[in-house]
Amino acid sequence: MKILTDGKKKLNTNGKSDINTGGRSNGLIKNSDKAKPKWEYSKSIEDKKHIKLKDKYDLFIGGKWVKSKKYFNTINPATEEVLAQVAYASDSDVDKAVRSAEKAYDKVWSKMAPKERGKYIFRIARIIQEKAREFAVIETMDGGKSIKESKTVDVPLALAHFFYYAGWADKLKYAFPGRKVSSIGVAGQIIPWNFPLLMAAWKIAPALACGNTVVIKSAETTPLTLYKLAEVIEEAGLPEGVVNIISGDGKTGAAIVGHPKTKKIAFTGSTEVGKIIMRQTAGTGKKLTLELGGKAANIIFEDAPIDAAIEGIINGIYFNQGHVCCAGSRLLVQESVKEIVIKKLKHRLTSLRVGDPLDKNTDVGAINSLMQLEKIKELVQAGINEGAEIYQSKCDLPERGYFFRPTFFSEVAQSHRIANEEIFGPVLSILTFRTPSEAVEKANNTFYGLSAGVWTDKGSKIFKTLSKLRAGVVWSNTYNKFNPASPFGGYKESGFGREGGRQGLDAYVV
Ligand code: NAP
Ligand code: MG
Repeated sequence: MKILTDGKKKLNTNGKSDINTGGRSNGLIKNSDKAKPKWEYSKSIEDKKHIKLKDKYDLFIGGKWVKSKKYFNTINPATEEVLAQVAYASDSDVDKAVRSAEKAYDKVWSKMAPKERGKYIFRIARIIQEKAREFAVIETMDGGKSIKESKTVDVPLALAHFFYYAGWADKLKYAFPGRKVSSIGVAGQIIPWNFPLLMAAWKIAPALACGNTVVIKSAETTPLTLYKLAEVIEEAGLPEGVVNIISGDGKTGAAIVGHPKTKKIAFTGSTEVGKIIMRQTAGTGKKLTLELGGKAANIIFEDAPIDAAIEGIINGIYFNQGHVCCAGSRLLVQESVKEIVIKKLKHRLTSLRVGDPLDKNTDVGAINSLMQLEKIKELVQAGINEGAEIYQSKCDLPERGYFFRPTFFSEVAQSHRIANEEIFGPVLSILTFRTPSEAVEKANNTFYGLSAGVWTDKGSKIFKTLSKLRAGVVWSNTYNKFNPASPFGGYKESGFGREGGRQGLDAYVV
């Protein structure tokens, strides 16, 4: 079977047929097939008038805006409109950025009293807080995530990270009792597109708190909030060169990793690129942390509070369109409650609102890029071909932009691609188990080991199960909850090293 791209072919609504792209980007069900909602919310579009975007963004190096030879467009994936042009950092631009970071490290930052460093980081947090609405709107426009989420998750968590690590700057001796630690030097940091500002905060805040300077590269599709952050850094009066912000593609990232003067590399992204970076840094003496992909098990026991678990499933897989490394993308349901869970999940999908990310009522926004949309479609088609049973929300989708209907597969076998590969989209794979030990065995049957969830009303079962799961982050009776004081990171092919919490300081000291 083939993925239909013209959106004209007739398709079933029961999910047993080929996947329909519904014009530009839709999922299996055509717009005309949708169930009519009993009542509609009025639109509540977030105002964009207060947003200040430049037409063109230069690189932020040494506290100045530096032109590059090449620029590329960043678009709004919900409308396909160009938002701005951004500079492409070449190898020589990366060299400039690293040298400016090294100079700032040698001359200023490593010598500054920790308490003073803390004040700068605190100031960054305060200014982000003042501009929180602008940050949220730009994050939503550049990346496609719903404004509800950028306002309540991305921006508050990002600034909370700055506040949190501002507090650690002058207390490192308490973080490492009995050990005298020092900073490393220039940290090269590379982040993905799913949580741009938040990932930048996870990386910049602890690096600065420990006395390092930074060269950070945004992902190709989402550079704008990082350049907004550069404006904040200017406003906070950070000494020039302490934080250098650049944009580009994989080649730019590789130049940061390969630069002899970056002493520490912090990477968040795919396992595939993580492996390349590991090979590239082997034998160089560079300190490395890798935050990579995931295929988390969200385990629902028969004694779980089912309605709460349904919300946990929804939040686990449809939050941020499923572009979440720790997404609960493999649902493991105890066989005795499978029917009721699937029934309730189908019902819940009827009220999950997909559409304009700037609409405050939207739950699921746009897929980040056309490339990612194609990858999701390809894996969904593989699920159909391998015999799993697909179900998709019957919601309406916008005509323009990259959207995909919230989808789940039941009758998934362990051997299916959709049970093993990270889809990184709003697509859930449902598997079943009979006994707690089978649940643990299936949950751990993955190359990844980033996160997991357990739903049960028995406290002892929570502890017994969680202690056996090979995952860096575990949640019980909730999902996708984050806090700057709580470390985050993986096992196995999900990477190594921790970000967040006291443990997050470890990566930035020797
Ligand atoms: P990706 O393709 O690995 O890209 C991540 C970043 O690395 C981007 O900035 C990318 O640049 C850059 N890059 C690409 N090739 C590179 C190379 N050879 N050397 C250095 N840098 C290179 O991943 P993605 O598709 O953007 O992000 C999705 C992945 O990130 C998923 O697998 C997800 O699970 C993972 N993720 C993990 C965590 C975590 O904490 N564990 C958090 C979020 C996301 P361009 O974008 O400019 O090409
Ligand atoms: Mg964009």
